[in-house]
Amino acid sequence: MIKRLALLPLVAVLAACNAIPQAEAPRRTAVRQSTAVLTPRPEARQCLASLGATRANFTPLPDQYYGAGCSTLGTVRLASLRSDDATLALSNLGPVTCPLAETFAGWARFGVDRAAQQVLGSPLVRIETMGSYNCRNVAGSGRRSAHATASAIDVSGFVLADGRRITVSGNWNDQSPKVRQFFSAIHASACKRFGTVLGPAYNAAHHDHLHLELSGGAFCR
Ligand SMILES: [Zn+2]
Repeated sequence: MIKRLALLPLVAVLAACNAIPQAEAPRRTAVRQSTAVLTPRPEARQCLASLGATRANFTPLPDQYYGAGCSTLGTVRLASLRSDDATLALSNLGPVTCPLAETFAGWARFGVDRAAQQVLGSPLVRIETMGSYNCRNVAGSGRRSAHATASAIDVSGFVLADGRRITVSGNWNDQSPKVRQFFSAIHASACKRFGTVLGPAYNAAHHDHLHLELSGGAFCR
């Protein structure tokens, strides 16, 4: 599954779920790989312990180099996160670096879930994403994206316990002031926690998601 994740995270996830036959999953032929996991380094172990303390459900993944500046080193597969009272499901998320996963877990609980409860009156139950790892450049540039090292997550929507589904593409400029206030609160919370936060206010490429990345100097749009 790791090999296929190099190309199309969504296809890989679907294949992993047997939603499509594995034979149909595209294969990359010229990818050299090395698998080098064994015992995590001390700082990596520390991160895994901290992530575990958030009561996230996750699996550490083997380190992989895909060439062309793309790799997944020190990553985990997040199955779910925890809010104060509930398990938070995740959609379409591939490998993410452990420190990013830990920050994401804190944002989900203290930023998103609490805003959902306080502003919208219903707890969060699911975060929908457009993925994390993707061997590609920043759109319109020759520079590798943080996604090329599983160092960014694209969040596209939220599902609440009362069944409401709130998406960046559909609800960012919602008629309801409460929904706009919710987005304002979770965006501000993300800006406190992540180094780079890019949403619909940044450019058209981000009209349907929030890009969350640890690196960067409080670049918040
Ligand atoms: Zn992104």
